[in-house]
Amino acid sequence: MQEQPKGTTSTEVHEEWKERAPYQIHTRHEHFPVRYEASCHCGKVTYQLKRDRPLDSKLCHCTTCQTQHAAPFQWAAIFHKEDINFTNGHHDLEWYDPSEKTTKHKLPCKVRCKWCHSPIMDEGRNMILLFPSLIHFKSKEDRLKFEPRCHMFYGQRVMDIPDGKPKWAGLNNDSEQILEDKPINEKEQYSQG
Ligand SMILES: [Zn+2]
Ligand SMILES: [Zn+2]
Repeated sequence: MQEQPKGTTSTEVHEEWKERAPYQIHTRHEHFPVRYEASCHCGKVTYQLKRDRPLDSKLCHCTTCQTQHAAPFQWAAIFHKEDINFTNGHHDLEWYDPSEKTTKHKLPCKVRCKWCHSPIMDEGRNMILLFPSLIHFKSKEDRLKFEPRCHMFYGQRVMDIPDGKPKWAGLNNDSEQILEDKPINEKEQYSQG
């Protein structure tokens, strides 16, 4: 695989991602110990994971996640790009970059199934934040390994979650922590647009 020189056409750049993690095709002979299996709602996109537990797992209450997931908050588990092996539909995806509002494959971006539009993951520059709701957990023990460890952007929440877990006003470990009995700050919440 040749390196893509800067200024190549969008078609070439569009194809280049197929050769890289997390989308590269793994051959059957490659060693990939399957720990979890997952699929989108329609089943056209399927993938496997080899890591036993995520590097981190968190609930995000930011207004972008609320809108993108049409939900009060989002549940994401962090993995290395090499931890995932798409087994189907990995070249049938659509992207969305919420910062520039484009559908180009520009990192970080949201990744969805092109058919059913289920959110699959957020692809960051170095990591992926995948959505564990797509994983077919075989036991409660496995599910507990993905248990959210904290809340982030809790300042933008639409509801209180009194679960005793750390709650960050913005990014975890990089913002103020919010105490559980602190009421929802309407001004803060509604100023985010
Ligand atoms: Zn789908
Ligand atoms: Zn968010």
